[in-house]
Amino acid sequence: MADELYKTLGVAKKATDEEIKKAYRKLARKYHPDRNPDDSEAEEKFKEISAAYDVLGDPEKRKEYDEGGVFAGFGAGGGGGAPFGTGPGGFGGFDFGDILGGVFNRGGGGRAQTQQVRGRDLETEVSLSFDQAINGAQISVTVPKSSRCGTCHGSGAKPGTSPKTCPRCEGRGVEAQGQGFFSISQPCSQCGGSGQIIEDPCPTCGGSGVTQQTKRYKVNVPAGVKDGTRIRLAGKGEDGPRGGPPGDLYVTTRVASSPIFKRLDGGNLEVTVPISVVEAIRGGTIEVPTLDGTKRIKVAPGTRHGTVQRLRGEGPPKPKGSGRGDIRYRLEIAIPADLSEEQSEAVEKLGETLNGSDPRAELLRRASR
Ligand SMILES: [Zn+2]
Ligand SMILES: [Zn+2]
Repeated sequence: MADELYKTLGVAKKATDEEIKKAYRKLARKYHPDRNPDDSEAEEKFKEISAAYDVLGDPEKRKEYDEGGVFAGFGAGGGGGAPFGTGPGGFGGFDFGDILGGVFNRGGGGRAQTQQVRGRDLETEVSLSFDQAINGAQISVTVPKSSRCGTCHGSGAKPGTSPKTCPRCEGRGVEAQGQGFFSISQPCSQCGGSGQIIEDPCPTCGGSGVTQQTKRYKVNVPAGVKDGTRIRLAGKGEDGPRGGPPGDLYVTTRVASSPIFKRLDGGNLEVTVPISVVEAIRGGTIEVPTLDGTKRIKVAPGTRHGTVQRLRGEGPPKPKGSGRGDIRYRLEIAIPADLSEEQSEAVEKLGETLNGSDPRAELLRRASR
């Protein structure tokens, strides 16, 4: 008995962990049931190999075994997957893809476990005022999400009972479609891929292992976010089924628009600023709004409609602390519509003085060529 398991894997008692792993991989590939359909001998062999590796692949168990410990039920690790040595076909947690890919990351100290499935990502939105988006804010979001059931701790089985290994897939969670080497695995039709069936469902969650809850999180919205910015809260998504890692929560910002500031690409803002005809002609200094008050900017004599003046660094913070954007002031000449008699006369006078300088002369000269 003392070295039976070593014989099963065809390695010496002094074999290194690496040699054991290698030998196991080779044999597991050879005898894997997906590769040997309807071959019960191969299946038995595969189970023996798996059980042997379950002990020898785990340094602690191997030591115990070497010291003469007796393993009554291999890997009866409770909760996780199908334990080895319980009834026919206890090879839980093997995926043909894993064997082909050579990935043997068997966590949990040899407990046969089905592949860990990550929980779903969740999406939600937060509404922000323009000021909150510019200055940053802490906002709470409430998300409905399914969490591991507290009564059954996610197993789905009534407390005091435990899930049974699915007889159809024998705990593997997958069924092979087609024949031989290139068969396609798909989730088991009886257990839905969990590898287990529940005979006495948990009264709280009805056997699903999850309950619907609403969770509230505080989201730190960084200063300068735009409408549609996605903020990721790692690990705040749904719990993974059967103990898998949680997904993430994505919060998308919805930012109210401002009646004054228009956001431009590149983290800048634009403000439309009316100037009078006289200011456009004569120039001057005008007062304009900023994010925290007002400032004065210069208007050059002879300013054209649509001219842009900017105040650098007065815009919103740029992402990742790379300074602040600019505010661009688009100057628009306000044309008075209703003139008083005095104003009309002044315009007439201006017209007379401008006689001889036809603004369209150049245009028409070009057009007539
Ligand atoms: Zn439950
Ligand atoms: Zn099944």
